[in-house]
Amino acid sequence: MRLSSKKFLDYFTNPHSTEEMPVIDRHVMKKKKFYLYKKGVVLCLITIIQRKCDKIVMKKQENDEQMEKKFAIVKNGAKMEEKAKDTMGGGRMQYEGQICRAPMERGAYMLPVAVGCSYNACKFCTLFKHLQYRELPIAQIEEELQRVKGLNGRPRRVFLGDGNAFGMKTERLLKILKLVREYFPDVAEVNMDATVTNIQEKSDVELKKLWEAGVRHLYLGIESGLPDVLEWMHKDHNTGGSIYSD
Ligand code: SF4
Repeated sequence: MRLSSKKFLDYFTNPHSTEEMPVIDRHVMKKKKFYLYKKGVVLCLITIIQRKCDKIVMKKQENDEQMEKKFAIVKNGAKMEEKAKDTMGGGRMQYEGQICRAPMERGAYMLPVAVGCSYNACKFCTLFKHLQYRELPIAQIEEELQRVKGLNGRPRRVFLGDGNAFGMKTERLLKILKLVREYFPDVAEVNMDATVTNIQEKSDVELKKLWEAGVRHLYLGIESGLPDVLEWMHKDHNTGGSIYSD
């Protein structure tokens, strides 16, 4: 028995109808319900897939934007490096000799102020044997500071190279420290290598001035507490200079 659409809708929308639905029509309705259920499930799946696709597209757009930003930063950095190269004739630090410093200084900005070691006679040290000691011109030191500033460098700690930078005259050291402050006001400390004799040769007033100008750590090669070992190693100090007592 076939059921007209209108009749079917009546049964379907009016469950309190007193009229008994014919068995065959119940079967048709069941089939229709099942069809509607399937259609609903398919629609849900389509909606879920659509949302997922939207999310993927949005994520891709975000990634593209981030990549563009990163690319712009890199391009900007490259431009600044080029500018520094143009103004200073080279984008890299000019360094003569081997870089050697205490591990604690690995994060510090190493600013060369001299080549080699003014003493250069310790028996065991081969770092600077092949180099003639000389102090770098102040103009060259300033060029190096300009180079790093041009690259947007903002060091908090500076290490003055080379062998025994603290052996330089106090006036020269103060000039360099002033330049460091001018270019990088955020620098919290300036450190360097020294010999025991370098320190002994400076007066208390000089040491105080250097402290006030930012010097904080001096790295010393005391090497031994035995006078004969120090002598044999050609160190420039004896135990009298390196052992402190009140
Ligand atoms: S003072 Fe230091 S850098 Fe100079 S020769 Fe001796 S160990 Fe080497």
